[in-house]
Amino acid sequence: MNKDVVIVGAGPAGIFTALEMIRNGSNKNILIVEKGQSIEKRSCPKSKTKYCVNCKPYCHITTGFSGAGAFSDGKLSLSHEVGGDLPQLIGEELAQEMINYTDQIYLDFGADEHIEGIHNDEEVKEIRKRAIQAGLKLVDCPIRHLGTEKAQDIYYAIEQYLIENGVEILFGYECTSIILKDKKCLGVNIKNNKETLEILARHTVIATGRRGADWFEKICQEHNIAHEPGTVDIGVRVEVRNEVMEKVNNVLYESKLIGYPKPFKNKVRTFCQNPGGFVSQENYDNDLAVVNGHSYKGKKSDNTNLAILCSHNFNEPFNQPIEYAQKIGELTNMLGSGHILVQRFGDILDGKRTWQKELVRSNIKPTLPDAIAGDITAAMPYRAMINIINFIEAVDNVVPGFASIETLLYSPELKFYSNRVKMDANFNTSVEGLSCLGDSSGWTRGLMMASAMGVLKGRDLSK
Ligand SMILES: Cc1cc2nc3c(=O)[nH]c(=O)nc-3n(C[C@H](O)[C@H](O)[C@H](O)COP(=O)(O)OP(=O)(O)OC[C@H]3O[C@@H](n4cnc5c(N)ncnc54)[C@H](O)[C@@H]3O)c2cc1C
Repeated sequence: MNKDVVIVGAGPAGIFTALEMIRNGSNKNILIVEKGQSIEKRSCPKSKTKYCVNCKPYCHITTGFSGAGAFSDGKLSLSHEVGGDLPQLIGEELAQEMINYTDQIYLDFGADEHIEGIHNDEEVKEIRKRAIQAGLKLVDCPIRHLGTEKAQDIYYAIEQYLIENGVEILFGYECTSIILKDKKCLGVNIKNNKETLEILARHTVIATGRRGADWFEKICQEHNIAHEPGTVDIGVRVEVRNEVMEKVNNVLYESKLIGYPKPFKNKVRTFCQNPGGFVSQENYDNDLAVVNGHSYKGKKSDNTNLAILCSHNFNEPFNQPIEYAQKIGELTNMLGSGHILVQRFGDILDGKRTWQKELVRSNIKPTLPDAIAGDITAAMPYRAMINIINFIEAVDNVVPGFASIETLLYSPELKFYSNRVKMDANFNTSVEGLSCLGDSSGWTRGLMMASAMGVLKGRDLSK
C-alpha cells in the first residue's frame, strides 16, 4: 500500500495531524493505523462487571480512536505551563498560540464554552497566600472540562469528519516496525490477527502515546534514532471527601501545586484533580495495573481524587527510567495480588498496613471498590515515600484536612513519559521522513499539548 502520510496511533496527536491537514486543504492521502477500535466500538466492561477484567489484547481505556483521551475526563489545560515540555522545543509564544488555536477546534466540535479557574480573583489570592506560607507554588491554569462522556461525543464527531474527508483509518492493526533504507524511513509494517501489511509512505508519523513508549524506545535503539532517557513520575492517587477540597474545587477546579519538600528537595506536584470524580485502573499490555482518576460532567461521587507525583531521572550508570518504574509497579501489584493497593494516610504515619475492615470506619468510601487494602510503603522507594508524605503535610496548610488519618492513598500511580526523541521544531527526527508526536515523543503529557503538537505537524505536512 502506498500513501503520502502514514500516522501510527489515533490518539489526539495523530488525529489532530490529519485534521489540520484537511483544514489546510491538503490533498495528500493519509492513512491512520490504530491497534484499537473505532470510538463507537470502545467500551470498558468495568461499568458492568464492577471490576477490571484486564481486557486482552489491549485495554479499552487507553487504546482505540482518540487514544487515552476518550475515556479520560477530558480536562484541557489551556496554559503552556502545563501538559509537557513542548514550549522548550517551539517557544512559549508559539506553544500558547497553538493551544488557543487547538482549543477553538475543540469548541467547533462541541466542547463546553465554560472555562474553569479564571474567576474568583480574591479567593485565588487567598489560596495562593496559603500556598506561599506552606512553601508551595500555585500554577495558574485555565481548564476546559469536556467530561468523560462528552469527550467521547467530541472525538466521535472528529472521527466522522476525518472519514468523510477521505482519511483512511485501519483499526485493529498494530505497527510492528518501521521500514528504513539508507537512513531514510520508507513506511511501516503492520499486522492484525489475519495478515501482515507493508505500508510505504513519504512521511511516517509515530504518535503511539504512553502505552507505545517502551515499543518506540526499542525502535529508537534498534535504528539509532537520536533520543535521550526521559522522566518517569512515581506517586500515589490521593482521595478525600469533597467537603475537604470544596474551596479549591469551586475556585480553581484543579489546584496545580508544586513543592520541593525536605530533606531531598525533589520536585513534587499535584496532577489530574477530579472533583466529584472516580479513581480508576488502567492495565498495560504487560499486565501492569496502574491507578488513574477521572470525572464525568454529569455523574458525581462524594470524593475528589488527584495524583501526587515525584519526577525521577537517571543517567549513569543506569538510564532506564521506564524499567525502574515498572519494577515498582510490579512489586506493588504483587502485594495487591494484581490489584491496586490502597492505604489510609494515618496508617502510613503509624507504620502499619490498612485492613479492609478499617476502610468502612471512615467518612470516605473508596471509589475504586476493587482496590485492596494493604501497605503501599512496602513497595514504594523510601525517597518517593518521604517526598509524598512531606508534600501531603504541606498541602494540608492550603487544604485543611488533606493530611487526615482517613485520606486514601492508592498505588501504583506511574507516568511513563517515554524517552525524549531529539527533533527539530517541525518534529522531524534524526531519520529522514520520520516524525514523532505527542506522549510517545516524550515532549507532551496531556491532551491539549499532544493535540497542539499534531496541529503543528499537520501544517508542516500540508506544505
Ligand atoms: C485515565 C486517563 C485520564 C487522563 N486524563 C487526562 C486529562 O484529564 N487531561 C489531560 O490533558 N490528559 C489526560 N490524560 C492523558 C492524555 O490522555 C494523554 O496525554 C493524551 O491522550 C496523549 O495523546 P497521544 O496522542 O500522544 O497518545 P494516546 O492518546 O495515548 O494515543 C496513542 C494511540 O496509539 C495507539 N498505538 C500505540 N501503539 C501502537 C502501535 N504499535 N500500532 C498502532 N497503534 C498504536 C494506541 O492504541 C492509542 O490509541 C489521561 C490519561 C488517562 C489514561
